[in-house]
Amino acid sequence: MTFKELGLNEKIQEALEYMGFEKATPIQEQAIPEILKKRDILACAQTGTGKTAAFILPVLHHLSEKASNKTRCVVIAPTRELAIQIDQQIQAFSYFAGVGTIPVYGGTSGAEFEAEKKALRNGADIVVATPGKLITHLNFKYTDFSQVEYLILDEADRMLDMGFYDDIMRIVRHMPKTRTNLLFSATMPPKIRALSKKMLKDHAEISIAISKPSKNILQASYLVYDQYKAALIRSLIHDKSSYHSIIVFSSTKKNVNGIVRALRGNGYEVQAVSSDLDQSQREDAIRKFRSKETRVLVATDVLSRGIDVADINLIINYDVPRDAEDYVHRIGRTARAETTGVAITLINEDDMYKFAGIEKLIEAEIVKMKTPIEIGESPEWNPKSRGSSRGGARSGGRGNSRGRSGGNRSKGRRSGKSKSR
Ligand code: AMP
Repeated sequence: MTFKELGLNEKIQEALEYMGFEKATPIQEQAIPEILKKRDILACAQTGTGKTAAFILPVLHHLSEKASNKTRCVVIAPTRELAIQIDQQIQAFSYFAGVGTIPVYGGTSGAEFEAEKKALRNGADIVVATPGKLITHLNFKYTDFSQVEYLILDEADRMLDMGFYDDIMRIVRHMPKTRTNLLFSATMPPKIRALSKKMLKDHAEISIAISKPSKNILQASYLVYDQYKAALIRSLIHDKSSYHSIIVFSSTKKNVNGIVRALRGNGYEVQAVSSDLDQSQREDAIRKFRSKETRVLVATDVLSRGIDVADINLIINYDVPRDAEDYVHRIGRTARAETTGVAITLINEDDMYKFAGIEKLIEAEIVKMKTPIEIGESPEWNPKSRGSSRGGARSGGRGNSRGRSGGNRSKGRRSGKSKSR
């Protein structure tokens, strides 16, 4: 369906033409008509589906029809990175729509705080904020949300996981009762249902959630003891210039630093992104990665959702993420917009049962390879064991078993079934 058919006005269509968006994605097709009617929605959609434009476009359509000097839309997102990204998408469209936006997120300088304060006091059409920082401003009582028409919660499941429920409710209390609420969530656990009951009125429900990775991602894994992981990563990227943009994900900040040190020691251009860094360092690292100055970005799950960098060829999971959903988010950073990508997960003996859980979630068996013999021994695949023998098994005959031990990806799986989670 085209955007014209969806009823968006000419200013928005001009912006879409400029951005090169020709056809609406499924979430846009379903959400835009409801939001144009100012109906509340509960949308289950992941990053990569075009969900940001799905809420931005109809809101800009309405806001561009009449000028105002009040804040009329508030978008709340769990992380600074996502807030920045949403703000940037709004800016790209709003140039044509003549609508102003301001990002409000933690970790900024005193001068930026003053700019946020000024915008909140005077009214920016759209405020894109992380909950904590917005609460800080609300506490000073200069923020005027009395004319807010739209409240958008993006990645609401993540916000609740991060403990932002009370902050969200406090923010809501500053807004008029009659407004349009748009609740976007990548998953639909009971607490999101409870939140939607509390916040939404006569809402439309939209679900695009498919908790399966894109078919354009080639997934594989290695069975590897922790002490061989750095050498394995080096062997995976050494001499492979076609992998020009690589993200290595780690569940812990501690490992991020170790991986960065190991790769830098081998002369690779590497940057880290974790919550240990301040905001400007994180932005700088992402900017360098986007512009391809940096080949490898090493990150915690801060980055696994929401961050949109085009053309990432290889994702390496240094460990298996705690949450099976995070696996889908991590590897979804590659193969964006119909390109192809590779995702390789390093599985130690402790992570096997978690990896089996991921295979269950995505309904696919992922190829499992042994650590190359010149690097070291491999643990045996045993998904039932939670692996107490960390780092052991360095001796003893293995002999034969290099190469594949698992099956093909997507072997014998149902394909069309979408899961509601
Ligand atoms: P999102 O799911 O909002 O993170 O969007 C993922 C990517 O898809 C972003 O880079 C968007 O700019 C892009 N995108 C969103 N909608 C469309 C569309 N209708 N046509 C082409 N690209 C789109």
